[in-house]
Amino acid sequence: VLIIKHKDKLSPDYVPENLPHREEKIKELGFIFKDLLAGDAKDSERVVILGRTGTGKTATVRLFGKNFEDIAEREYGVKVKYVHINCYRHRTLYLISQEIANALKLPIPSRGLSAQEVFKMIHEYLDRRNIHLIVALDEFGHFLNTANTEEIYFLVRLYDEISAIIKRISYIFIVNESHSIYKLDRSIRDHIARRLIEFPPYKSMELYDILKYRVDEAFNDNAVDDEVLQFISNTYGYDKGGNGNARIAIETLSLAGEIAEKEGSPVVLLDHAKKANSTINPEIQEIIDSLSYLDLHQLILLKALIRALNKTKADEITMGTLEEEYISLSREFNEEPRRHTQVYEYLRKLKVIGIINTRQSGKGMRGRTTLVSLSLPLDKRLDDYIMQQIMVRL
Ligand code: ADP
Repeated sequence: VLIIKHKDKLSPDYVPENLPHREEKIKELGFIFKDLLAGDAKDSERVVILGRTGTGKTATVRLFGKNFEDIAEREYGVKVKYVHINCYRHRTLYLISQEIANALKLPIPSRGLSAQEVFKMIHEYLDRRNIHLIVALDEFGHFLNTANTEEIYFLVRLYDEISAIIKRISYIFIVNESHSIYKLDRSIRDHIARRLIEFPPYKSMELYDILKYRVDEAFNDNAVDDEVLQFISNTYGYDKGGNGNARIAIETLSLAGEIAEKEGSPVVLLDHAKKANSTINPEIQEIIDSLSYLDLHQLILLKALIRALNKTKADEITMGTLEEEYISLSREFNEEPRRHTQVYEYLRKLKVIGIINTRQSGKGMRGRTTLVSLSLPLDKRLDDYIMQQIMVRL
């Protein structure tokens, strides 16, 4: 029996026409950008969106961008173009400039232009056509982690080299709370975070409304029992001790639907939701998300730990063994291994994220030594993901 009518409407990339409990945030964004509608198009705005994973940052900003473009054109006859860029995929100034050019369908000469030159072309183009551009830089933490200070300054326009035409681009910086922008240099921070909109984790009642709306869009009529929605929203509701993550709530709903279909049930029942819930582990998901913020050598160290654990078939290894493995793995990647003290620092960081555990050896070992273990079950998916993260940094 098919009970899911539109599977695509359950996918994480889908942006619904309405976002329950984020209407106020969309209004706030509209207020910040309202001067653009006057048609002068020369007031550059910058706003930071801050919140944890799954609080609707991406969906809200996308929906705002699309609506704002339409309204500007239709009701004010003003040309506003909205571009959404994921800095996880495009983490350098150069790639960001290319993405903007692509979105504007601006042909770029194939001879190697610098990012700065591409930006100049973009500005000229916008000026010629009297367009104001709103660029949303999603997962902006990745750019901040990768870029050097000069590039960050360039992007946020502390050095107004091309100031006459500068005001044609506004930015929405989307930042995950786990990557605090407060670590940034003060002068940059003040410049970026003039305006800040925070996205709090969802409460259970809010998740209930979000799920309900999604059920109406994606499932057949009466195909989902109300208990299912209550169970999922109570499990993840921030006020009930959950993480307030709508993405995981929707994923659980979607999986519950698939389980019900597989079992031939015409309705998704509480039991299906419970089964779905037990296979989705939000803590592990959060840890995996945070891996993307690690540096190359932190990741190599983690990979070395996995390899050493696999080799020895033990649950934990000594710091000495880990360091040997780390050194040889670094060489395999043609990377100079970092010093002992630095490695200790990396280890501490991995512990903070929650992906490893360390303890001091007790009796039975000569001297005292640090023992290191992985706090997640060793599985291939995790291993592949770490490898993929290493590759993008090499
Ligand atoms: P973030 O960018 O904060 O990690 P997303 O915007 O990617 O979060 O949201 C995660 C998922 O939850 C997406 O599938 C999104 O459509 C959905 N979602 C988040 N907030 C809402 C909401 N208020 N109403 C409906 N769906 C939502």
